[in-house]
Amino acid sequence: MLEPLRRIVQEVNAAPDFSAVLEIIVERVKHAMHTGMCSVYLLDRATNRYVLSATRGLLPESVGKVAMTPDEGLVGLVASRAEPVNLEHAETHPRFAYFPETGEEKFSSFLGAPIIHQRDVLGVLVVQQQERRRFDESEEAFLVTISAQLAGVIAHAQATGELARTTSPEADAGPANIYAGIASAPGVGIGRAVVVSSPADLYAVPKRRSEDTEGELELFRHALERTQADVHSTKNDLKGILSTEELEMFDVYLRMLEDNSLGGEVIALIRDGFTAQSAWSQIIIEHIRTFTRMESEYLRERASDVRDLGRRVLEHLQQTARPVQVYPQDTILIGEDLAAPHLAAVPFDNIRAMVSVRGSHNSHMAIIGRSMGIPTVMGAVDLPWAELEGHLVIVDGHMGHILIDPSPEVERAYQEVFRKEQDLAADLLGTRDEPSVTASGDAISLWVNTGLRVDTKLSLEMGAAGVGLYRTEIPFFLQERFPSEEEQRVIYRDQLTMYAPRPVTMRTLDIGGDKALPYFPIKEENPFLGWRGIRVTLDHPEIFLAQVRAMMRASEGIDNLRILLPMISSVQEVDSALALINRVYTELTVEEGYRIRMPKVGVMIEVPAAVYQARELARRVDFLSVGTNDLTQYLLAVDRNNPRVAALYHAYHPALLKALRDVVRDAAAMNREVSVCGEMAGDPMGAVLLVGLGYRTLSMSASNLLRVKAVLRQLKTAEMTVIAARVCELPDASDVKAELQRTLDRPGIARLIRSDRPVQQANRH
Ligand code: PEP
Ligand code: MG
Repeated sequence: MLEPLRRIVQEVNAAPDFSAVLEIIVERVKHAMHTGMCSVYLLDRATNRYVLSATRGLLPESVGKVAMTPDEGLVGLVASRAEPVNLEHAETHPRFAYFPETGEEKFSSFLGAPIIHQRDVLGVLVVQQQERRRFDESEEAFLVTISAQLAGVIAHAQATGELARTTSPEADAGPANIYAGIASAPGVGIGRAVVVSSPADLYAVPKRRSEDTEGELELFRHALERTQADVHSTKNDLKGILSTEELEMFDVYLRMLEDNSLGGEVIALIRDGFTAQSAWSQIIIEHIRTFTRMESEYLRERASDVRDLGRRVLEHLQQTARPVQVYPQDTILIGEDLAAPHLAAVPFDNIRAMVSVRGSHNSHMAIIGRSMGIPTVMGAVDLPWAELEGHLVIVDGHMGHILIDPSPEVERAYQEVFRKEQDLAADLLGTRDEPSVTASGDAISLWVNTGLRVDTKLSLEMGAAGVGLYRTEIPFFLQERFPSEEEQRVIYRDQLTMYAPRPVTMRTLDIGGDKALPYFPIKEENPFLGWRGIRVTLDHPEIFLAQVRAMMRASEGIDNLRILLPMISSVQEVDSALALINRVYTELTVEEGYRIRMPKVGVMIEVPAAVYQARELARRVDFLSVGTNDLTQYLLAVDRNNPRVAALYHAYHPALLKALRDVVRDAAAMNREVSVCGEMAGDPMGAVLLVGLGYRTLSMSASNLLRVKAVLRQLKTAEMTVIAARVCELPDASDVKAELQRTLDRPGIARLIRSDRPVQQANRH
């Protein structure tokens, strides 16, 4: 059964649209299982009925007409039990319901499997057979596997509105223009989509048009010539190594590129107004699809040749493409996997919002979005991102919504939200010069997390008392190779000077996990449990030493540097890092004559082991800094980047609160400074909890600083202590959140922690 399964999955993946997927499923499953019938029933949410949506074996005219609630018929039974039902003689079952319009009377045996996505029964897949028999275990397993495969496709169709159009074609399902993602940096951004793509990825080429048809044709011809030359030279290189038949493959490639083949189709599309890249990728994808559907295995294999050829030409097109990407003043940056390098090319003032199909609330781009005050939505998995170039888009970074081509009324409503946000920001500016104290007068130091040069301006405007976390990997991302010691010194000097005399906490390079440098890729099965942070730099002392030297040299005469070590999970790592830091200090001061004050050194508490060894770690260093982003991920075993488990990632989890309580207690026992630099510190409710737990230094994205300050100024310290103690004893994160919302729902605070939106629901299950 493995081969048919593989083929069905392949065909489904290559299907042009949702109805084709359904047709492929019923056709292929019926054939593979040798049954008399195969049908798919899909849930119509409007009526809560499972509607017959595709069939082989029942009368075709019954499609769309026959439907069952979860209480009706055998299909309803499968849906309500959310497990397979396997019957030798369906008619004798008490739940059997007869629908004469289907012509089903000829069938006796019945096997139905639910189609479940994230606990939701989206449909039922059924096979039936004339003769009386019980389907065996392997058949049941086959149907269950197909259903599981189908679930993701159906969920996507649901999100894009295609499902509603299938189950109730006559009803107006409305345009599928609201997509859900993960709210990652608050605020509303309204503007025009600019799609950024990964190189040589055929599926990542946005559908773009160009006025300059002749120019695009020229580009295309040029790319073809270069590819043809490549193919010729590869063929020559392989003469004598490959057989004559194998070498013939290269001639097939060359023929495909000719004007009366692929080349001709692409030229026609360019003449229709598409750019060369866009025309090429559309045609190639279409051909890959055709080949994938072929009966003959030999021809199916040709799909990968077409794909390969497609990439080669695209690579040339991308190399020669004029790199004048225009970023309008209201750019909404959209990408499949947005990363820091994409940002480098865009004038900062032009970015209204960012959207990434991959990633989650704590991915690096989300953090950058927050630190720069750019509304950001990550994990928008259903977004047809490649088709959005130039469309009007609204990004609601608070709710995690993306609206495509909204109606004028909706746009006006969001303009209003945008205006209110600007008003609130302007009001908050009034607290800029107020002291950062609680209502009972206890000082709370509000620091900022930085990484890009542009966020310094905002941080200083917001009145940051220091930098609690300077993510040095961000300048590393923006280079094409490791920056030299001197290049780093210049960057660090800039940071230290801009904030002086305020302290600046520079973290040593924290790569690995989701943060890979383009020029130092780390490929691992389990990157978050792998070679990350201090583990990488201790294995590469030359990188660590150069960085620490650059930091210390940069601090000469300013002396506001603090060094922070990421991802520490044992005292040995601290001892090794300290030995290197001390060595650098001695070299610089004793041997090279620099006059530098020894910086304070701290450890990040972001791994559960470090929580339990906080005292041992604190004994060795000057301060502790809790990274709640990773600590949440590791304590709850939830990948901070994975949209599928984003709902389980919760900074209010009582387990995390108890860990935070222990760390602040242990730091006090060892008489060491302690702060929090994870995102929780920048969330007003999180900040209330942290102060209540005993933290007095919070480091956050600059854009959150005044909001947090405004909330803390309205609450007495003792009151926050009581709140924190109470919620720590609650059983679940949702209880903690509800309790915080209830307690803080008071005039003056509520509007700082809540926001009302014109659209409350997006098409996500
Ligand atoms: C953290 O893990 O909480 C943290 C501040 O570091 P980063 O988000 O850069 O991993
Ligand atoms: Mg971290």
